[in-house]
Amino acid sequence: MTPKDFSALRARLLAWYDAHARALPWRVGPADHAAGVRADPYRVWLSEVMLQQTTVPHATPYFLTFTRRWPSVSDLAAAPDAEVMAAWAGLGYYARARNLLACARAVAADHGGVFPNAEEGLRALPGVGAYTAAAVAAIAFDRAANVVDGNVERVMSRLFAVEEPMPHSKPALKALADGLVADDRPGDWAQALMDLGATVCRPKGPLCDRCPVSDFCAAFARGDQDTFPRKTKKADRPRRYGVAYLLMREGKLALVQRPPKGLLGGMLGLPTSDWRATGWTDAEAIAAAPVEAAWRDAGEIEHVFTHFALTLRVFRAEGAMRADEWAAGRGLEALPSVFLKAAVAGLGRLL
Ligand code: SF4
Repeated sequence: MTPKDFSALRARLLAWYDAHARALPWRVGPADHAAGVRADPYRVWLSEVMLQQTTVPHATPYFLTFTRRWPSVSDLAAAPDAEVMAAWAGLGYYARARNLLACARAVAADHGGVFPNAEEGLRALPGVGAYTAAAVAAIAFDRAANVVDGNVERVMSRLFAVEEPMPHSKPALKALADGLVADDRPGDWAQALMDLGATVCRPKGPLCDRCPVSDFCAAFARGDQDTFPRKTKKADRPRRYGVAYLLMREGKLALVQRPPKGLLGGMLGLPTSDWRATGWTDAEAIAAAPVEAAWRDAGEIEHVFTHFALTLRVFRAEGAMRADEWAAGRGLEALPSVFLKAAVAGLGRLL
């Protein structure tokens, strides 16, 4: 593509965004933005952190709950850890919730509750990576930042028919995206690319007949757009094995607080064995139980974390133990999803 094509492509995509931008609760739409309305950096940052973990439909209710309970970054900074962790349950990957709080507290304590307005300052905040810094700088502060996530990588790989496989092609895809960033409407540009990737240039079955930039797309011209981005064969996720224990007393379930560091750190959960590379026999599972009781096999679940897959056997018994909480009904709903699954598998339903 020539520089002239670049500006024509930009104009085409921005015009499409003006007409088709998704209405999102954290977004200032293109018409309002043109009228001078600015996005709230707190809402942009919060949405970006949530969206790194999950999809827009799944993140939206969490975003609405967070912003209702904690309307500003200073409100979030002042919230007790346990309340924020509980509100995060279901979004997965709790390290992100811990970073969220650390970042909110740094903005409140070190920046008077005001987010830094450029990538460098944002990047210095705890837990804020290159992507989030670029997204907040572009969307909230209209900085000409190059905002590249998986969606944008896919769009670039197709527009330019990049043959190099992922993940080796990441620097090249980022450089191609950078060539399209300009000082004119950088926040809208970043969001236009995100919308194109999410709604038109989808991972499977891109809707090229509705694409505003199909005239510029090298993969579309060749007719093999579905085959991009090229990929190297991925090694399977490692698998770990563990046991979860459902100890019942008077219709309630024993819950324990997990250690503050590590996976699901600080969350309430079911008592479990270690999670290891080999499976558990019945005798091993019973020997590793938190207390002696008439433990019975109550099923098995599969759960996929970011870095490994877990096969969790579930054992159930009546008895007593030193638990951090005994819970039933709503008290169980805030459990991380891996434990919810185990409880439902072992009990047939939630108590
Ligand atoms: Fe993606 Fe198709 Fe548009 Fe190319 S033409 S950018 S493959 S939707």
